[in-house]
Amino acid sequence: MDKSWMHSDRRSKAYEFGVEAFLNFAVENLLTTTHIRCPCVKCVNLKVFGVGIIRDHVYFNGIDQSYKNWTFHGEPWEASCTVSVVDQDLLNQAHLYVLENTEEVLPYIEQHMIHIKTAYPKFRRRTKWLQDKHNSTFIQWLRFKVQSELEEDNNGVSENLRWLAAGPNMAVPLYRSYLIKGIKFNIKAQDDVRTTQNSGVYLLAQTMQVASAKDKNPILSNMGFYGVIQEIWDLDYQKFTIPVFRCDWIDSSDLVVDELGFTLVDLSKIGHRNDQFVLTSQVKQIFFVDDPMHRGWSVVLSMPNREYNDVIGDEVLGDVIIECEPFTRGMPNVDTFDELVGELGGQNIRDGCEDIWIE
Ligand SMILES: [Zn+2]
Repeated sequence: MDKSWMHSDRRSKAYEFGVEAFLNFAVENLLTTTHIRCPCVKCVNLKVFGVGIIRDHVYFNGIDQSYKNWTFHGEPWEASCTVSVVDQDLLNQAHLYVLENTEEVLPYIEQHMIHIKTAYPKFRRRTKWLQDKHNSTFIQWLRFKVQSELEEDNNGVSENLRWLAAGPNMAVPLYRSYLIKGIKFNIKAQDDVRTTQNSGVYLLAQTMQVASAKDKNPILSNMGFYGVIQEIWDLDYQKFTIPVFRCDWIDSSDLVVDELGFTLVDLSKIGHRNDQFVLTSQVKQIFFVDDPMHRGWSVVLSMPNREYNDVIGDEVLGDVIIECEPFTRGMPNVDTFDELVGELGGQNIRDGCEDIWIE
């Protein structure tokens, strides 16, 4: 977030734009327009107001310039993150996932598939081969495609697509903890030194399942994936950033639903190595609890929906005791999960799993 405006003249455009960006940031993260702490010099985040009043305060009183890390408004707890140059293959995997889950890119994916089938007519019915070919060449293809479209007049390429196609910076900010829409997510390593657990995630994704490479009637179905956050990356596309989780996903073939309807997972069985990333906006937080009845297995529990807004920023947030409910395969709360989805629009698309094919 650009915060230089905080030191600008209050009558300047920079200040005006900065205030609006700040308010949008807060509303997006806290999921409220009426219960936001006011960072003006008089309130210094001790009072809570609606957006309109905060806007007035910040103009008339000025913003508290010592408020550098916006933890009351959705910035991660840690004052800093580490920036690392990440493995190129992993970065490509993350970037590809972002592209495939961005509505604007979908027509290009279709075009690319047609392009591959035309270039390799012998392989046009081999879905697994086509998917692998697509995965390994799409990033480069899209970059050139968008570049050449940009050279035309009235090309219709949006600013968003332009930066997406250019790809993320190799230096990636990594976080240990991240607040998304009022819910705190930790990486596993962060959880390991605490008594609380905030690294479990659930993703419901539409997948096309085929029984074999020759299967002509693949079944489109929703499939649940259970994971543990290993890293939090904030992909830097120059004009915007897109946070993603790199997770260990439990092998989907290793799920059990016990006699009481609880989902049991074996956390040591990790699968989907070629598909580790997920948009932070797509997941639902879950908890894994050791199952005393079945050694080596953990029970999956989901968190009831609750308003966190009143405690955001309080030190105790991480220690709030939550009454968990069983998380069954039947997914009674699918609808609430859907609300978490769609920042970039569209369905959650996963592929790269064995025998799973997306067209
Ligand atoms: Zn105020």
